[in-house]
Amino acid sequence: MARNSFLPFAILSSFFSVVTGQLQTLPAAASGLPADLFGIGIASRIRTDRNSTAKASTDFGRMVEAAPEAVLHPATPTDIAELIRFSASSPVPFPVAPRGQGHSWRGQSLAPGGVVVDMRSLGRGHRARINVSAAGAEPYVDAGGEQLWIDVLRATLKHGLAPRAWTDYLRLTVGGTLSNAGIGGQAFRHGPQIANVHELDVVTGTGEMVTCSRDKNSDLFMAALGGLGQFGVITRARIQLEPAPTRVRWVRLAYSDVVTFTKDQELLVTVTDGASETGFDYVEGQVQLNRSLAEGPKSTPFFSGSDLNRLAGLASRTGSGAIYYIEGAMYYDEDTATSVDQKMEALLEQLSFEPGFVFTKDVTYVQFLDRVRQEERLLRSAGVWEVRHPWLNLFIPGSRILDFDTGVFKGLLRDGSPAGVILMYPMNKDRWDSRMTAVTPTAGEDVFYAVGLLWSALSVDDAQRLERDNESVLAFCDQAAIGCKQYLPHHTSQEGWRQHFGAKWGRIAELKATYDPHAILSPGQRIFPSAAEAVGIASA
Ligand code: FAD
Repeated sequence: MARNSFLPFAILSSFFSVVTGQLQTLPAAASGLPADLFGIGIASRIRTDRNSTAKASTDFGRMVEAAPEAVLHPATPTDIAELIRFSASSPVPFPVAPRGQGHSWRGQSLAPGGVVVDMRSLGRGHRARINVSAAGAEPYVDAGGEQLWIDVLRATLKHGLAPRAWTDYLRLTVGGTLSNAGIGGQAFRHGPQIANVHELDVVTGTGEMVTCSRDKNSDLFMAALGGLGQFGVITRARIQLEPAPTRVRWVRLAYSDVVTFTKDQELLVTVTDGASETGFDYVEGQVQLNRSLAEGPKSTPFFSGSDLNRLAGLASRTGSGAIYYIEGAMYYDEDTATSVDQKMEALLEQLSFEPGFVFTKDVTYVQFLDRVRQEERLLRSAGVWEVRHPWLNLFIPGSRILDFDTGVFKGLLRDGSPAGVILMYPMNKDRWDSRMTAVTPTAGEDVFYAVGLLWSALSVDDAQRLERDNESVLAFCDQAAIGCKQYLPHHTSQEGWRQHFGAKWGRIAELKATYDPHAILSPGQRIFPSAAEAVGIASA
């Protein structure tokens, strides 16, 4: 078989068995790396001991396990290029997976039988891998692909600047989120993080080091942004900055009726021109299933015990068993504190949340952006951070969100009491660049919703049950022709990936053949089987 041909679906699916609730063990495609790998320049940075490989064998999701043969701790991007060139020129190229924080949940950063590149090594020591350019009308930061967003924030704030688009959690790497999209409550106005990047340095699957932007090597630029690590390793990103506020007025507004909730959410996100003067700077939302209020924690970092009691009362009065929150934030500085009060009052008057159910916090900008850190600390101290996370994230066309709500929140999940968080918030499609690899629903609508089922499974049984729930949700979406797309996608067959990429699939396969012809990169995404897997199958 030619090296750059892609294995058919039947072979691919036989490679990756279905998750059963135990940690799924992915088979290594071929055992052993070429011995001469350990004679090249980067050999001293390659570890093969069990301690090193074990750390790179699973991820935040803890649903999948597969050990690499080795882990590379690169000192420079050139080390990564050398490894990839070596693999590409081997008789049987071995897989190579960049690993940022390993905060995926389906083994996307694993490299069974190959080499995991510990990206975080690039930033260790005294290497200046975050450089802010504050002068000029269009300030930016050059950040290493291995850098954590929290560190990018700290470095840019020294200049009174910050990126515009954020994920909810900041202990993720720049390369890791840009390989997906990087979404959060600012996306309705500024698009996902990938829409806020000017330039990238990428090491391709042939080991070439390429600088790319919208004007220069634009194919690779568009491919790598949202590219699930398939076309190259992002070693630097130039990210747009704006003046940073110092404080944030942060509210949650409760709704018992989904129609009013979504109407208000869409009102908040669709007025974007000049909205920084009158609207929220951040809009997200959550769904709370009735039983999770009754059985959940007695207080949270946002809600006091008495708030939760009032919310439980509200939930019990609704027949539906679900209540909804809009989460909004307004940025301001100390000298605009009075006007933020007026602006908030005027905005809240336009919304139809349950009277009296507005909950407000006033925090610093850093406390707001880094808010999930506080929850992480609480979950860690309760021993429920490092558990299985069978998460499912979907993008739902705006016109079908009520059908999804009826079928899923008031149907399939109504009587469950899953531990975790359910996110639900709209974004504007025109803030996404459709030339990038990231996928949004194909329906020609202006608004689509991100729905995140962020479950925590406290036992194997729990994980199995939640997996079944996720499958039912996907089956419901199929049957009801909701037209959803997975975000942070997971498909176990090439047919699944074809459907995921839809009209983009042909282009994706072409770009793969150009930039990673041996299908070396990020095999844990399970999109394109590698040459090594072909040999593994042949010898199995
Ligand atoms: P990894 O898990 O290490 O890698 C992810 C994939 O990208 C792998 O295929 C890997 O091979 C590839 N990759 C890693 N680094 C590079 C690189 N430099 N170049 C090319 N490919 C690379 N996502 C959102 O969009 N919004 C959120 O609000 C959000 N919140 C989250 C909260 C939590 C608690 C967690 C655990 C995840 C959250 N995510 C969110 C998902 C997160 O963005 C992705 O899982 C992301 O991939 C994690 O980054 P990472 O650095 O850990 O990447």
